[in-house]
Amino acid sequence: MRTAIAEIDPDALRTNLARVKSLCPGARVLAVVKADGYGHGLLRVAAALAAADGYGVASLDDAARLREAGFRQRIVVLSGFDEARDLPEAAALRAELVLHDDSQLERLGAWRGEQLCAWIKLDTGMHRLGFDCAPASMASLRARLAALAARVDPVVWMTHLACADQPGHPLNALQQRRFATAIDGWSCPTSIANSAGVLLHPATRSGWVRPGGLLYGLSPIAGRSGADLGFVPAMRVKSRIIAAHRVAAGEGIGYGAVAVADRELRVGVVSFGYGDGYPRHAGPSARVRVGARLAPVLGRVSMDLITIDLSGVPEAQVGDEVELWGPGLPAEHLAEAAETIGYELTCGVTRRVRFVEKAVVSRTAEAQGTSVSMTCST
Ligand SMILES: *Cc1c(COP(=O)(O)O)cnc(C)c1O
Repeated sequence: MRTAIAEIDPDALRTNLARVKSLCPGARVLAVVKADGYGHGLLRVAAALAAADGYGVASLDDAARLREAGFRQRIVVLSGFDEARDLPEAAALRAELVLHDDSQLERLGAWRGEQLCAWIKLDTGMHRLGFDCAPASMASLRARLAALAARVDPVVWMTHLACADQPGHPLNALQQRRFATAIDGWSCPTSIANSAGVLLHPATRSGWVRPGGLLYGLSPIAGRSGADLGFVPAMRVKSRIIAAHRVAAGEGIGYGAVAVADRELRVGVVSFGYGDGYPRHAGPSARVRVGARLAPVLGRVSMDLITIDLSGVPEAQVGDEVELWGPGLPAEHLAEAAETIGYELTCGVTRRVRFVEKAVVSRTAEAQGTSVSMTCST
């Protein structure tokens, strides 16, 4: 039996939601649970985050899974709908659709079912999804929505910041100004903030906030871990050492012999590879946690295995547990070594990893095992 396990901590999810709420008093929270709850498991995440005001998903399929499991909260489909046949399904699921493109308004023109709630997304500068927010375009958008009033109820006006993780970026202020101008005179609730907005842009902490990453204890800011920002990682990915041996100086380790022992090394083999979601492009700064210590990853990541340098962990033995990322070793640390972000790591844990729910009983004891922050570059 493979020993790769992803432990999901519902208490961490709850704690992180409470912290978001305390940062955004008076705002409503749309908990973003797309991509199977950032890889943590949609239904278990939704259950832990039941105190949120609604869930943000990327597909009607996810909305259906939530309704089938009995969740009655508001559900917002962040990319809206693509086809006419999505509309009866959205109505049946009481899912709210994000509208962002003229093609959707055309399809709604032919909709004869009940009135649907919609979030109207404006493109204020990110140039991904959203209606153009220039004054002339806004006038025509408002006229088109008015003509569709029997079919669509625009309940929230939203936009998305392109550079929210960079507090000094001029696009942040520009996007907020354009948004304010575009919706001037409408009394609808608004929604701007993602996780980085919640953390760094107080003016966006109103109406509906839409955090994803922070709820999972993931950092939206480069160079900081979720824990650095006061959030608790909700996923711990772990496995075990299944072999250990000595490799003489000058010998290569793993595929391509890209790692060469510069002295005699004690090498451990961990049952976890890219087939489980370990990033194959992790560079030489990648570490795993073994007990209270960090061990460097050696050579290429293979499908089922990674090799680690146990020279600095003499007490480690076959059978010992290894943390790949989690509360004892920030996902952001490995993400940096692999030139990606923590979000991609949690989304990428594969189906053969066994998911279990486990609250971390004593977080402080856990943290004392080793203190690894983004500034520690061992
Ligand atoms: C994914 C997403 C979010 C959440 O982003 P985080 O960085 O995870 O907080 C918010 N809004 C929209 C429209 C999204 O697609």
